[in-house]
Amino acid sequence: MSKDIFVFIEFKDGSIRKTSFELLSKGKELAEKLSSGLYAVMLGFDTKGLTEEIKPFADKIISVDEEALKEYRWDTYTDTMEYLIKKYSPYLVLGASTITGKDLFPRLAARLDAPIVSDAVGIEVSDGEIKIKKPIYGGKIISWVTTQNAPISIITFRPNSFSIEKRQINGEIIEERIEINMDSRVNAVKIDKGGSKKVDLQEADFIVCGGRGMKGPENFKVLEEIAEILGGRVGASRAVVDSKWRDYEDQIGKSGKTVSPKLYIGCGVSGALHHTMGMDTSKVIVAVNKDPNALIFQYADYGIVDDLFNILPALKEGLKSLKQEA
Ligand SMILES: Cc1cc2nc3c(=O)[nH]c(=O)nc-3n(C[C@H](O)[C@H](O)[C@H](O)COP(=O)(O)OP(=O)(O)OC[C@H]3O[C@@H](n4cnc5c(N)ncnc54)[C@H](O)[C@@H]3O)c2cc1C
Repeated sequence: MSKDIFVFIEFKDGSIRKTSFELLSKGKELAEKLSSGLYAVMLGFDTKGLTEEIKPFADKIISVDEEALKEYRWDTYTDTMEYLIKKYSPYLVLGASTITGKDLFPRLAARLDAPIVSDAVGIEVSDGEIKIKKPIYGGKIISWVTTQNAPISIITFRPNSFSIEKRQINGEIIEERIEINMDSRVNAVKIDKGGSKKVDLQEADFIVCGGRGMKGPENFKVLEEIAEILGGRVGASRAVVDSKWRDYEDQIGKSGKTVSPKLYIGCGVSGALHHTMGMDTSKVIVAVNKDPNALIFQYADYGIVDDLFNILPALKEGLKSLKQEA
């Protein structure tokens, strides 16, 4: 039985997403332990230049470069991935727990009758057995699961779950020509792209998140400034998004995005379960809240009990001078 590993590569605004490099790095480590090959799978149009960027990370790069794959569509992408998986029979298919990943991989698992573990944060191989680390019950419990010797398993990971390690592999490019059926019952007529922010929220290393305690949209300016100094992004609780202080694309939590940055700073966020289940795997959590009993402190590595309007200007100035010194 093949122990080869597929990593599905995602793009954003013409660049390969950081999360794909994270998966390739982890995939290579697993492939070495399993004595198998690592395949990067690239579906898209006009991706030649990007294929070159992948070469140092994967043993083989399967490239399907077709105009029909220019934009993500559930039907064309599921068909193409199904075809490739049936042809190459990988043991593991790794993808990111992004909007595309959440749409594509469950469909693929159903087509292939394969087990799927979604939204995982870690994976290990010991004695040839794969163990997948996955938060459950809104992150209150970390579980380790296996897929019981299934011939193919599909696993999606939260962005920022792994570090990027560039190798010098010079992977072989395999160009696949596939006839793609565009005869779908659902067709995109027009795609309106929202104003793109510099760093993708799910891939940001630093997130400064504002809650209802920020009191109004005008007060998010200081969070923007802190995020800018850190090279990160501003996030928001649902209370903030529902109040139209920030766009939905900034929302963190159950009905927003799941994030796992190196540093999450929650400002005026109470720490309701629906919020924390979207950020509790952050590596370091800092909370600023004037209520010492706020739930967010149960998750925080560092807590500041104070009025955020006292803390944030000082934090901004402190970070600014640290950056100037560096
Ligand atoms: C099905 C469902 C899905 C949901 N999905 C999400 C989701 O995806 N994301 C999400 O965030 N929520 C979600 N929610 C809502 C969630 O349950 C909470 O209502 C929400 O997270 C609360 O937002 P908040 O912490 O900003 O506001 P609040 O709970 O009102 O908290 C505000 C905090 O600010 C503090 N504060 C106030 N003034 C100051 C000050 N001057 N200085 C310091 N601290 C101050 C207060 O002490 C308080 O702790 C969902 C709810 C449901 C039912």
